[in-house]
Amino acid sequence: MDPAQDKTTVGTPAGLNLRGQLSTPNIVLPSRVDRNETFLRTCKFRCFSPRFARPSNTELLLGFARAFGRGLNQFQFCQMLRQCNGCQNFVFTDRLTIHQCDGPVLQTQADNFDIVRALVTMERNAGLSRLDFCHLFTCCDLCHRVFLEHLIFSHACMDI
Ligand SMILES: [Zn+2]
Ligand SMILES: [Zn+2]
Repeated sequence: MDPAQDKTTVGTPAGLNLRGQLSTPNIVLPSRVDRNETFLRTCKFRCFSPRFARPSNTELLLGFARAFGRGLNQFQFCQMLRQCNGCQNFVFTDRLTIHQCDGPVLQTQADNFDIVRALVTMERNAGLSRLDFCHLFTCCDLCHRVFLEHLIFSHACMDI
């Protein structure tokens, strides 16, 4: 629709209406399209080039947890996890606001422990302790990529 034709009119000409009540004057408001275009002009979106786009933290985590995956290089691994200044535990980068130093620990030793579910939960928790860290993750001596402990033997090291 032509934005010029998409105007919203409010009220009637100033004066008394049929019931003798004072009516409001005509006010032409900008349409939603006009307002959105104005809003968009004021936004300063950061640009990106698809060729150089880096995987998000969630993409890193999902790839990391996949069997026969490629693991993560050290840079990606450090992008995915942050260490708390207070308790020194490790927290998924996209869940920093729900970290609670004295919160419940993640049940990393449980049979049904799922690293993805544990790290993306919205429930407050204490993250991964140094001990959890050492039990869960390991680095390949050859390709120097980081893997979940139980997945390291399934990676195609020489193909990486
Ligand atoms: Zn903490
Ligand atoms: Zn390897």
